[in-house]
Amino acid sequence: MREAMAELGEWYRERGRHELPWRGTRDPYAVFLSEVMLQQTQVERVRPYWERWMARWPSPAALAGSPLAEAIREWAGLGYNRRALHLHRAAVAVVERHDGAFPANEAAVRALPGAGEYTAAAVACFAGEVRTFVADTNIARVLARATVGVAAHRGLSRGALRTAGEALLPDADARSHNLALMDLGALVCTPRTPACDACPLARTCAWKAAGYPGAPPPAKPATPFETTARFARGRIVDALRRGPRLEAELRGALPPEHASRVEEYLAALARDGLVARAGEGWALPG
Ligand code: SF4
Repeated sequence: MREAMAELGEWYRERGRHELPWRGTRDPYAVFLSEVMLQQTQVERVRPYWERWMARWPSPAALAGSPLAEAIREWAGLGYNRRALHLHRAAVAVVERHDGAFPANEAAVRALPGAGEYTAAAVACFAGEVRTFVADTNIARVLARATVGVAAHRGLSRGALRTAGEALLPDADARSHNLALMDLGALVCTPRTPACDACPLARTCAWKAAGYPGAPPPAKPATPFETTARFARGRIVDALRRGPRLEAELRGALPPEHASRVEEYLAALARDGLVARAGEGWALPG
């Protein structure tokens, strides 16, 4: 396996996504921002948002000093608006708890709003260069296939995945190692069509050696996005980015099949802290 890891390192030096702007910084706030943006969104869509956000709010103090509604406006088009709320709350918490200095310590990051186990480990490793196990979906899939010999990580316990991942962690430069696995999962060991011929782990991969048991079937057609509650809630927040609206106006901004659920959508958004009552209607918070 040591040889395979050396080949992985070489592959990463040649083929890794070094040009991503958040790869060139060790600022934990900038890395945290990239990780939150990447949680549900593809890299190429995130890049311009990350650059704009960093230019506008280059520090937690700058973000915390702006109204939450501004953060939600800046988020327009990225989807999953709760992430803007979490980022703003995290910035406020960093100012209050850490005097504005974003931590690179895993436990301190984990205690921030919107930071799960993965995000905390990613900030510690990618910004603080801490030797720690990091597993986003891409890394988890590669580990499941290459070391355990199963098609996907979903059936594996977190402990089993961690054991597999920690066994491969090098003593030095765990950052490059984790980024290499991440890029391999994103570019080569993709969910449905892994390019094993181009993979530096092909000679030792347990899943390949076993003949690809449980290989995933072709993707089913997705539910049209416009019919989902997520689409409707996003539309409502979009309308409120332009200013306060009455409930009837928000109903009018949605396709007819959502009309009967506007109250429910608004209640959910209000519970999340993304919208608030404003007189007879609704507005972004603050
Ligand atoms: S050999 Fe194929 S299945 Fe195994 S890690 Fe590489 S791309 Fe994934």
